Amino acid sequence: MMATTHVLAGLVVASAVATVAPEFGPVALVAAAIGGALPDFDLYAGHRKTLHFPVYFPGAAALATPLALVVPTQATVGLAVFLLAAGLHSAMDALGGGLELKPWHATSEQAVFSHYHGSWIAPRRLVRYDGAPEDLLLAGVLAVPAYVAFGSPVEEGIVAILAVSAVYVVLRKPMVRFGEWLVERLPPSVVGRIPDAVVGDLVDGAGGDRPAGGD
Ligand SMILES: [Zn+2]
Repeated sequence: MMATTHVLAGLVVASAVATVAPEFGPVALVAAAIGGALPDFDLYAGHRKTLHFPVYFPGAAALATPLALVVPTQATVGLAVFLLAAGLHSAMDALGGGLELKPWHATSEQAVFSHYHGSWIAPRRLVRYDGAPEDLLLAGVLAVPAYVAFGSPVEEGIVAILAVSAVYVVLRKPMVRFGEWLVERLPPSVVGRIPDAVVGDLVDGAGGDRPAGGD
């Protein structure tokens, strides 16, 4: 799923907090946005493994949430919402597509890594791939609670997030094709200098050979 979908999923949690306890709305909003986005910062370093914890994040949230309910402070509420959003993100990735360059071909059995199990969780593909039309639909549905619960400028922010998501959905497949086209035409010496995490799949996808010493 798109990072924006994950952020909007986190904002659903923040919306619930803001509705029940408006004084914690702002901290919940910030914590949810950070928690929803954070796991995907491992995009170029062990994607869906390094910062994704589909068991540990929800487990920690299961401890932090009762604490925030019993001792509600800005810190405890913020921590609980952060962990809920990050846990939601990590767990939701199992419902999406695999890690392959073209996840719409559904060839990968790796959706998200469970450090608890020490293995990859297979993709359920309810959302076939990040940037799929159903991903945008899901983002639109998840955007509703925060749009209703928070006023301006959150409303404008949500519209902007959905606009960025829509552009991504349109460009998702052309971007991969362009990447392959570009890698095929770049001199091997140039491709060799680009980190494998950035172009490795593109080289494989384009049917080219990765020049030696490229790591
Ligand atoms: Zn993710």
